[in-house]
Amino acid sequence: MAVGQRNRGRIRMIIRTRFALAIAAALALAGCASVARAPDEFATAKAALAQHIQILASAEYAGREPGTEGGRKTQAYITGALTAYGYAPGASDESFAQPVDLVRLAPGEGKMALGDRTFVSGEGALMRAGMADAAVVNSRLTVFAPDAKKPFEGALRGRVAVIFSDMLYSGDANALLQSRAEAVIILTDDRDIFAEFSRGVASDRLRLAAQSNRLPALVLLAPEESRRFAAPLAGSLDGLRQEAARREAGSWRMRNTISLEVKADASRVESANIIGKLPGRVPGSGAVLVLAHWDHLGDACAPSDAADRLCNGAVDNASGIGVMLEVARRLAASGGLDRDLYIMATTAEESGLLGAEAFALDPPVPLPTIVAAFNIDTVAIAKRGAPTTVIGWGRTPLDKGIAAVIAKIGGQLDVQEDHQRFVRRQDGWALLSRDVPAVLVSTSFGDEETLGAFLSGPYHGPGDEWRETLELGGATDDIFTHIALLEHFGSVEAYRPGER
Ligand SMILES: [Zn+2]
Repeated sequence: MAVGQRNRGRIRMIIRTRFALAIAAALALAGCASVARAPDEFATAKAALAQHIQILASAEYAGREPGTEGGRKTQAYITGALTAYGYAPGASDESFAQPVDLVRLAPGEGKMALGDRTFVSGEGALMRAGMADAAVVNSRLTVFAPDAKKPFEGALRGRVAVIFSDMLYSGDANALLQSRAEAVIILTDDRDIFAEFSRGVASDRLRLAAQSNRLPALVLLAPEESRRFAAPLAGSLDGLRQEAARREAGSWRMRNTISLEVKADASRVESANIIGKLPGRVPGSGAVLVLAHWDHLGDACAPSDAADRLCNGAVDNASGIGVMLEVARRLAASGGLDRDLYIMATTAEESGLLGAEAFALDPPVPLPTIVAAFNIDTVAIAKRGAPTTVIGWGRTPLDKGIAAVIAKIGGQLDVQEDHQRFVRRQDGWALLSRDVPAVLVSTSFGDEETLGAFLSGPYHGPGDEWRETLELGGATDDIFTHIALLEHFGSVEAYRPGER
């Protein structure tokens, strides 16, 4: 599970009434609320899940960081499992691995000239190029006031933008990086903010190489240097801010020009999504997809002097991989589905759904042929028998079928608007945002209390590790729920896309 935006407002709106009634009726007809499977089946599935988690969350896998030995071991483990279950390579005819090229950018040597003032990379100025060396010659400056109206839509192409650090807190940072500006100069009068952004720029997160070609050069100036930069333009930092705010829409295109050069420092990280395919019985009838992210945060989940720094990621997301593999094993053993079944373990979810994004940008199976996709993430949370929730509810044509399937297996569905706050924080979003019906169906996101305890506790820390007492009841329920869902949506009789 990727990190969410802080301080996001919470909305609680119950949208379950109609379905709750429908399900209550279905249960009354069925006359039985217990899940119809033998107890030893549950125990077998739970034991298989436990084994996957124990292995993948062990020290040997070193926190499953993309591009590391632990990452490669994880890819090999999943490939080995899918091969053993009888899956064919799903990334291409010969390979289970869909390469995902990642990059991490570091600050580099640079210098910048504004009139007769020069600024050199070092303590007071952090400079970072994109994928290639940055070179800007006599480019006019556009200064944006902190509350400038939509400053980045096309207006910055080939230009140099000057902004104040407040803007980065307003959520416009991504738009800024995608603005196609040649360079962005960030001014601040706050030493702590400068230190915080410096750390962020210096320890850049992974990004997709394919989406990094046009990143602007970044220049971050410390308070002293920010004032030295603003002085010839408007007398002072405050003066510059006020002048920009006075202009139409809060942006001031100046006659002053700037020149800068920054050396690129881009390190490549090679990783992969692992994809297996179980060909369907009815060729040409489309595909169903199960995905779960295999990556986690490596071995630096605590300060450097801490005894345990390993980000084991037992719940996040060895548990999701374990559920996915046990679903894959059981479906293959029972003879597969009408439709093609794809099983995908994605990379670099923790850096912003990058593996899922890479899949969506270059899918080995055409996206419109995927009739249903189920993402599995952070599932070892709730107890056995906990209600199931659906993230992505109301956004796909799958809801009716999901409700029917859960009723049929004797489960309880509890969907609330509040659960939907996770929809953009999970891999399914890379598909859902491209109109592929993708949902996350699990017990774990419906149980506010245990989920909250996890997210404010061991989440993304060294404490998210395997132990005998790890709660696997709800996750084991999730295994059987997914088998039933895939049997439904993988059947050409039971599910016809386009029919409601
Ligand atoms: Zn996570």
